[in-house]
Amino acid sequence: MEKPHVAVVPSPGFTHLVPILEFSKRLLHLHPEFHITCFIPSVGSSPTSSKAYVQTLPPTITSIFLPPITLDHVSDPSVLALQIELSVNLSLPYIREELKSLCSRAKVVALVVDVFANGALNFAKELNLLSYIYLPQSAMLLSLYFYSTKLDEILSSESRELQKPIDIPGCVPIHNKDLPLPFHDLSGLGYKGFLERSKRFHVPDGVFMNTFLELESGAIRALEEHVKGKPKLYPVGPIIQMESIGHENGVECLTWLDKQEPNSVLYVSFGSGGTLSQEQFNELAFGLELSGKKFLWVVRAPSGVVSAGYLCAETKDPLEFLPHGFLERTKKQGLVVPSWAPQIQVLGHSATGGFLSHCGWNSVLESVVQGVPVITWPLFAEQSLNAAMIADDLKVALRPKVNESGLVEREEIAKVVRGLMGDKESLEIRKRMGLLKIAAANAIKEDGSSTKTLSEMATSLRGF
Ligand code: UDP
Repeated sequence: MEKPHVAVVPSPGFTHLVPILEFSKRLLHLHPEFHITCFIPSVGSSPTSSKAYVQTLPPTITSIFLPPITLDHVSDPSVLALQIELSVNLSLPYIREELKSLCSRAKVVALVVDVFANGALNFAKELNLLSYIYLPQSAMLLSLYFYSTKLDEILSSESRELQKPIDIPGCVPIHNKDLPLPFHDLSGLGYKGFLERSKRFHVPDGVFMNTFLELESGAIRALEEHVKGKPKLYPVGPIIQMESIGHENGVECLTWLDKQEPNSVLYVSFGSGGTLSQEQFNELAFGLELSGKKFLWVVRAPSGVVSAGYLCAETKDPLEFLPHGFLERTKKQGLVVPSWAPQIQVLGHSATGGFLSHCGWNSVLESVVQGVPVITWPLFAEQSLNAAMIADDLKVALRPKVNESGLVEREEIAKVVRGLMGDKESLEIRKRMGLLKIAAANAIKEDGSSTKTLSEMATSLRGF
């Protein structure tokens, strides 16, 4: 019998490619009767990390790189989501062509698109396929999408007290400063884009989220109650890579960690493209040094745009921007690697005892899966929301204080690093993170909540 096919459309950028493909691998692992074809939009030449990753896919996933597009007409280059969405929209003619061609030669049953590739959902209707959005993020973020009309009313109200946190059903109350970046300028293009995108969540048959019941039960239950049936909501996480691939610094990081005491090293990383200003970069360097704690820091060249490294490969040597003499002074205390480290292996190493993270959702899930407590350092997108969730709700993270100019000063950095990496203060945080680690492992066991959810969805695909 002909294998049922699922077509998948990620968005450009490593962290919108990997999650949806890891989801595809998980679906195939549980239900080998499917075949998956993935159409990958790209901007300019794809980063080597994306290419290296695609080469590791099993033969049951066919991946096709679409002709790369150029982004000459971005209305606001500082809004990453818009850049990503535009690049997918410019690729829509290629996606349609490939999808139609696939439908003519295979039994395609469903189309799964990344949240920023929602423009492709229209093709599902045209070709009579079931359609799904894959949100590689939290139920709390999905709540913001589903409650966006109500939220917009609250935020636009002139009588609103700015200090009063906002209640989103099932979630920890959100302070203004912790709302996703686009919410900080209600007349900006980023916010308008968010509201537009939120309408698209009513289009598909289902929405997958990379979270699990035991992590966000309040938000998931409240959403199910609010959405009532369509789209169906599927918490299927935690879905993360088994191991990081495609980097030269891997061996150096792991060999260095092998020589360190258990739980003694703070891993410092701002995801696949987060950058700091030169001033903040210096404060971080001095703060780490001042803390006296061991660290493994993945450095990226400073920039005035927080997401500067996201879609383009790094061209400058980031080590050149470190304070004078830093490497020499800290050579016994820390290891500094340029641009990339094998994060999954680093977090899974027994020497790693803490993670100073920009709180991208993948990084959050990876620290939960490995049971590593966090120091939150959100930069862009919905990272501040994730930071609020893990620090204020789940209480598995510490938040450094930011001064009036938006800077985290070196003394504050040293204080939180000592707090997390010290024995006493971090004990409770560590214990709670340990419990989440167990819950995460349980969710994806054979009879776990996320496994059952995914199987339920696969059954409905088979009957289509
Ligand atoms: N990553 C990595 N090495 C690095 C930086 C990032 O392997 O030096 C991986 C990390 O494991 C995670 C992803 O890149 O899977 C980053 O995703 P996240 O959602 O945390 O942040 P984003 O890159 O989207 O800002």
